Amino acid sequence: MQIINIKDWGLGIHTDGSPLVISGPCSAETEQQVHQTYSALAKYPVHILRAGIWKPRTRPNSFEGVGSTGLQWIKQAGKMAGLPVCVEVANAQHVEEALQAGIDILWIGARTTVNPFAVQEIANALVGIDIPVMIKNPINPDLELWIGAIERLYQAGIRKLAAIHRGFSIFPKDEYRNSPQWNIPIELRRRIRGLEIIADPSHICGNRHMLKNVAQTALDLNFDGIMLESHCNPDEAWSDAKQQVTPAQLGNILAQLIKRQKTTNDPIFKRDLKRLREEIDAVDYQFLDLLRKRMEFVREIGDYKKENNVAILQIERWEEIYRTRMVKAPKMRVDIEFVEGLLQAIHKESIRQQTEILNKKIPIHQK
Ligand code: PEP
Ligand code: MN
Repeated sequence: MQIINIKDWGLGIHTDGSPLVISGPCSAETEQQVHQTYSALAKYPVHILRAGIWKPRTRPNSFEGVGSTGLQWIKQAGKMAGLPVCVEVANAQHVEEALQAGIDILWIGARTTVNPFAVQEIANALVGIDIPVMIKNPINPDLELWIGAIERLYQAGIRKLAAIHRGFSIFPKDEYRNSPQWNIPIELRRRIRGLEIIADPSHICGNRHMLKNVAQTALDLNFDGIMLESHCNPDEAWSDAKQQVTPAQLGNILAQLIKRQKTTNDPIFKRDLKRLREEIDAVDYQFLDLLRKRMEFVREIGDYKKENNVAILQIERWEEIYRTRMVKAPKMRVDIEFVEGLLQAIHKESIRQQTEILNKKIPIHQK
């Protein structure tokens, strides 16, 4: 994919080495609130201003946004602050109105990305139009759906694209409002090289006190920017009050963040890194070879089970494997749940291989 980077979107966005920051209220509420928030934000290293005017809420009877009247407030306040503005769009009508109002950037929300019909409708409305679009992840942890939405926009001719990672709805809930599941945006980075990804700690955390740590994790993981909701009077916000901060609090968080460099030219660091990576390469190959050996035994046992018409799952044996291996976990200095997941994955693959053997005429390793 030929994706255009944020700095080349033609909006005069220069970060001068600091992280790209998008901020502004969850929702535009009044003209004064938008002006007050944006003019205060302009004093801090903020590069793009945000506000929602059509709010897709989980439950009815919550504040659903001021609607298109808010577009001019956002545009005007952005102009006064000298910064580009972005709003969320969820259908073709929103796109048309946002374009007419001269909004600089559109974003697609998590509740829209889940729906290919809605994403396609937005993409169709954007054919032939040169505007940047940022695509939030779908609410459920489904990378394909996220990639699918990006592809729909790309196929409509949009090249100024970025992704926003706002966490995922999981059951049961963890300490986050939306669990970050960092492995998913990392996999997105691997799958679509060159696509910039912005983290949205506000919707990940759902509260103020975790914002800084999550924003720092995003920078540590080399995210290309952060989106943080801010409001001139956060406690009184009409939506997402708990997670919004004042522009001054935002400034504070930004000042505390440590920017990590992508890499360094220090020859000693480079030499040591290379050496350690070679060690890791060697361990990985040993590990894969051990896995190959283990699966050979698994298949041999599969043949015996087939010959003797014995069931694959022997719960006592699995229980024994689990118990004996798990006692080692605390000494390995890795997360116990990680070891558990690894054992489960190996066992699952072992069962899959034996199932294949028991259901085939020729044992697979003799083919
Ligand atoms: C928002 O950005 O205010 C919003 C509604 O976010 P999300 O789509 O991530 O829930
Ligand atoms: Mn919000």
